[in-house]
Amino acid sequence: MFTRVEKYSRQSVIDAAELLKAGKLVAIPTETVYGLAANALNEKAVADIFLAKGRPQDNPLIVHISDMSMLPPLVCEIPDIAKRLAERFWPGPLTMIFPKADIIPNVTSGGLDTVAVRMPESEAARAIIKECGFPLAAPSANLSGKPSPTAAAHVFGDMNGKIPLIVDGGECSVGVESTVVCFKGDMIHILRPGGITAEMLSEYGKVEIDKAVTAQPEKDEKVLSPGMKYKHYSPKADVYIVNAHGDKFAEYCAERVKSDKKVIVLGSGVSENGVYFDYGKTPELQAQRLFALLRKADEIGAETVLVEMPEQSGVGLAVYNRLLRAAAFRIIEV
Ligand code: AMP
Ligand code: MG
Repeated sequence: MFTRVEKYSRQSVIDAAELLKAGKLVAIPTETVYGLAANALNEKAVADIFLAKGRPQDNPLIVHISDMSMLPPLVCEIPDIAKRLAERFWPGPLTMIFPKADIIPNVTSGGLDTVAVRMPESEAARAIIKECGFPLAAPSANLSGKPSPTAAAHVFGDMNGKIPLIVDGGECSVGVESTVVCFKGDMIHILRPGGITAEMLSEYGKVEIDKAVTAQPEKDEKVLSPGMKYKHYSPKADVYIVNAHGDKFAEYCAERVKSDKKVIVLGSGVSENGVYFDYGKTPELQAQRLFALLRKADEIGAETVLVEMPEQSGVGLAVYNRLLRAAAFRIIEV
């Protein structure tokens, strides 16, 4: 199959919708990462997402809507807390879990009786959903296990020949996947951290962070968010988090770089020179750049990637959560 890449425009929105209406897959830009979209209500189209990505079938997909009127038919109940969060954070990088209506096929919800829904902020994403008139299931448009794509070129690298169209909306502004929450009464339970932070959510209710966000699940342990149990976001290189900053971090990395030519370093605010790469001084910048840098590690044939420990609050918690998985929970204490 020939994979076309079209810049976001009125015409590409029409082209994308035409393919999606015909049950095909289209990669679309969102503010978080690029999504591999299909009609969320079309069982066969959704099954094709799992095939194209090589995604485990019990890992449910997020259903994307373009306005509030699309939500009630998808769910059995909308708790008050969800209404308040939608009012404040939608459109935006927040996914909420609801009891699912029968209209959602089991393949979309990974066999669960709940469904994850989000209204993206990306104008391109919402224009495409609106043109379709149905919700889109859209996991990240990477091969399962690889770093999520934050630019159209990343999607092309993974999906060339597998899908007919990639809509290019430029680089993703958030750069990590959405925050996923479920509700326990009025308690907001964070299953996956993202651009909408625990601190922001705590203005709307008591917030609890699932232990799977920062801890490695025990083998066969049942996790609330199935995606958390899989190895993720990994380049071919071995990734390590280095728990040090400033001179200590610099000295440790300098030693490693001296003795091994295939090591690269991602540090906050370092000057870039082909071995050292700047992944940004703020958690927001780190979130934007992390996945692209992990892909770059493979491009340049690195075997080891040393990454400076991110902050663990605000958007930093999302960066830390993705890095832990990319690094298979390996942390070097200096
Ligand atoms: P992705 O589409 O790759 O961004 O992954 C979606 C994430 O949302 C995964 O971590 C899923 O486990 C999680 N998720 C989706 N639907 C549900 C659900 N019904 N209950 C719990 N977690 C969900
Ligand atoms: Mg993903």
